[in-house]
This record gives sequence, C-alpha cells and structure tokens, in this order.
Amino acid sequence: MLTDSYGRTATDLRVSLTDRCNLRCTYCMPPEGLDWLPKPELLTDDELVRLISLAVTRLGITEVRFTGGEPLLRRGLPGIIERVAALEPRPEMSLTTNGIGLDRLAAPLQAAGLDRINVSLDTLTAEVFVQLSRRDRLDDVLKGLTAAAEAGLIPLKVNTVLMRGVNDHEAAALLRFCLANGYQQRFIEQMPLDAQHGWRREQMVTADEILAALSTEFRLEPTDPGERGSAPAETFLVDGGPQTIGIIGSVTRPFCGACDRVRLTADGQLRNCLFAREESDLRTPLRAGASDDELAQRWERCIQAKLPGHGINDPGFLQPARPMSAIGG
Ligand code: SAM
Repeated sequence: MLTDSYGRTATDLRVSLTDRCNLRCTYCMPPEGLDWLPKPELLTDDELVRLISLAVTRLGITEVRFTGGEPLLRRGLPGIIERVAALEPRPEMSLTTNGIGLDRLAAPLQAAGLDRINVSLDTLTAEVFVQLSRRDRLDDVLKGLTAAAEAGLIPLKVNTVLMRGVNDHEAAALLRFCLANGYQQRFIEQMPLDAQHGWRREQMVTADEILAALSTEFRLEPTDPGERGSAPAETFLVDGGPQTIGIIGSVTRPFCGACDRVRLTADGQLRNCLFAREESDLRTPLRAGASDDELAQRWERCIQAKLPGHGINDPGFLQPARPMSAIGG
C-alpha cells in the first residue's frame, strides 16, 4: 500500500505518455511550444508497463489514467492499454485527451480495454478555440467526442478551463451542450502550472463565480453534501437530475486532505503531487537493472514524503519547475 505520513493512501496513478501536444493552450504553454523531452529519455512501452504492473500488482493502485501532453500522440497507446488490461487485478483505465484523433482511435482504445474518457473542450466557438489553443481544431474535437460516446467510453466527461474575458461567457452554453449530448460537464479552476508562469490569482475564474453564473439559468443542488471523498469534483444535480455537473476548485476549494493520487511522468519520474517540487527517479534504477523490490521501496519512499497540501495558497508558494504538459494533468 502507498500510504503517506498523513494517512492518505494513493490508489489512483496518473501516467503521462508524452510531454508533446498538438495544441498550444494559453494556460498551459507558450505559442512556440516547449523543448520536448528527447526520445531516449522517454520510458519505452515495456518500461511503462513494468512500472504500471508493479504499481497495480504490488502497491495497491486500482485506477490508471493516461494523460500527457497529448496521450493520443503516443504510438503504442492501444498496445499499452491492452497490456495493462491484462493485469491481475485489472485496474480501471481512463484517459484525458484533447480529443484530436479520437474519431479514429475511440473504438480501438475501447476494444483494447479503456473504460472511460475525459475530453477537454473550452469553447463551442471556432474563433475562441483558436484564441485559446492557437490551433483551428474545434471540429476535430467535436468529432472525437461523438466517436468516444459511440464507442461506449462512458461516462464521458468534458473538462473546461474558463479564462476571464475569453471563454467565461460560454459556461452555460457548454453545460447545455453537455446536457443535450449526455456528457458530464466539469469546470476546472485555472492552476499555476503554465510553462510561462503567467497565472494570476485575480484573473482566475473561481468555483464560486462559475456556480453563481450557472445558477442564473440552472437549478444546481449538491449531489452528496459532505461526501466528496477523494473526488476532486464537487458534483451538482442539474435541474433535478439525473444529469450532473462537476466543479473542480483546485485552488479555492482544495481536496488535498483526501488526495489519493500519484503521478508518473513520461520520462519515468514519480511525483507525489501535481505541485511537488521534487521527483523520485524511477527510470535510472529501472535501466540499471533494479529489482521489483527496489523499485517498490523507492515508490513507497516517494509517497511517504507527500506534503499535507499543494501550497498554492501559501505566501511562499513556488510553481513546480515542470509545467502541466510535462507532469501530466
Ligand atoms: N492534452 C490532454 C488534454 O487536453 O486533456 C491531456 C493533458 S492536459 C494537461 C489535462 C487537463 O489539464 C486538460 O483538461 C487541461 O485543460 C487541463 N489544464 C492544463 N493546464 C491547466 C491549468 N493551468 N489549470 C487547470 N487545468 C489545466
């Protein structure tokens, strides 16, 4: 079991499959992109599967989420999912993607064993999409969403980051779109994880603001007051249900006290928090022939050192050296 010194147990592993992305979202990276990790530094498919297997069969991980960068850019993705699906006990498997290419990949990924998917969609307007992501790909994302639903990758969640003065006027339209299509809308507060360090607290659209804006048009009731558990999203029934909406107030309503997550970067570094300032290197011992026991001990030590909170609201907060795209969101 991966239990830390505050009694929290990590059961949810987030695996970044690549730091590359085909969008350039303003809240994530600069227009020119980043210095991508060189290929030899990335874990191979075999190395990834060995570490995931160790986590699932020995360390109590029950859920694996693939992310990035953009995970659909990873060539061997269906094969990796198939191999993880064969583990005993079989973990729940989900994927977070921008949806580009999902029209082709949704069915093969489902056939390989993927259970669920989250698609990021910040706007329904082509011009705003270009403004936010610096690429003209809205139609591709919408096609990807449709394909994912048809392939049965449900519940299908739509992740939205609202940016003040850019897309915050679209909150209700996005929720209507999700309700009409049977998707679960989730709004995520913008976090200080962009490569340019451009995050400003006063610019962030808060969970309170999102709820207030939606409440003028929809009746929102908490689904299970006081029962949020380790789930990052506070969920609300919309207009009496059955459909729900999730609000992830990572900054103003942190859920660190119940955090059950651990992250593996594409270059084999283990992180006990999205905002951790230190990583545990698993790739070097792995490539030097470390045994499963040695790797498991390294993993356990990393979790033991987990801090009680992400620290964003502390006066001395410093952003982690690596941006969200490298850590894996
Ligand atoms: N490329 C994939 C995607 O777009 O879903 C997976 C990686 S992306 C880093 C994962 C999620 O993190 C997306 O929903 C994205 O909107 C969100 N994200 C990225 N930067 C963020 C930030 N600074 N604050 C909050 N969410 C962010």
